[in-house]
Amino acid sequence: MVKKFDAQPLGSKVSEEDLELINRLSLKELTADDVFVFSVILCDNDIDRDFEVFSDEALSSLQKLFIGKTGILNHSNRSEDQICRTYKTELICGDGRTTEYGAGYKYIKAWCYTVRSAKNDDLIKDIESGIKKEVSVSCNFSEKVCSICGESNCAHKAGSFYGDTLCFKYINGVTDAYEWSFVAVPAQRNAGVTKASCQKRDTHSEIQRAKAEKETSFALQYRNEMKSRAEKGFAMLFPELSSKTAESIINLCNADILSELVKCFERKTAKLFPIKSQFGENETDKNNANSQFKF
Ligand SMILES: [Zn+2]
Repeated sequence: MVKKFDAQPLGSKVSEEDLELINRLSLKELTADDVFVFSVILCDNDIDRDFEVFSDEALSSLQKLFIGKTGILNHSNRSEDQICRTYKTELICGDGRTTEYGAGYKYIKAWCYTVRSAKNDDLIKDIESGIKKEVSVSCNFSEKVCSICGESNCAHKAGSFYGDTLCFKYINGVTDAYEWSFVAVPAQRNAGVTKASCQKRDTHSEIQRAKAEKETSFALQYRNEMKSRAEKGFAMLFPELSSKTAESIINLCNADILSELVKCFERKTAKLFPIKSQFGENETDKNNANSQFKF
């Protein structure tokens, strides 16, 4: 899961407690001067680009599993790309923010250390200057559960709207956390094991895109409805016009003109054919009471 969160350099400002945690993982005894520490946000419970969400249970497991795990570069397996180690994690919630789907926002913050050395100079500079900041986590999980029906096997499609509700999948049953990585570009999913997705901004734009698609589909439905009502109006009021001509005229109209045309036709047909009219009585009454709309 790649998130556009800044790594926060903490430099050598490491407490005695943290130094003790670091030394539990280190082979030789390290002092505050030996280490460079920083924090990263590993993952959260918001909707990602794949329309997936870590469940509360998954976040809770990941928080424990990531302690002691390495931070690497670009999900590379080369030992020289193992650049730091996670010595402390915390599941943070209750800061007042909410997710895209309205739940309280939660995220895993990790504190990491690397040893100060000539080899790590560039890395430390990159973290300090904010060049290294996008993070992706690798983990293994057993189940994805639908946000609409709660089933793990259903026909609901992640990223689609059902009514006003966006469908996404909760990730459950995390069995292992492998590592986290700084990535230059968002990583791809690996053999169904690596959970690698996207940046926060991408997530937002994906949701915007899904909403726009939904609006387009509503607009199309509305236009089709208006077209069919206009065709009825033409047939009733201008029986001498062929349906082909009526259709050509309708196709020239934009949504606003079509809507106005339909209103005019329906007022007219309601007045001329009160019994045959397929349109609501309220509409007719209202129109009759308003002389400026009468033909
Ligand atoms: Zn479902």
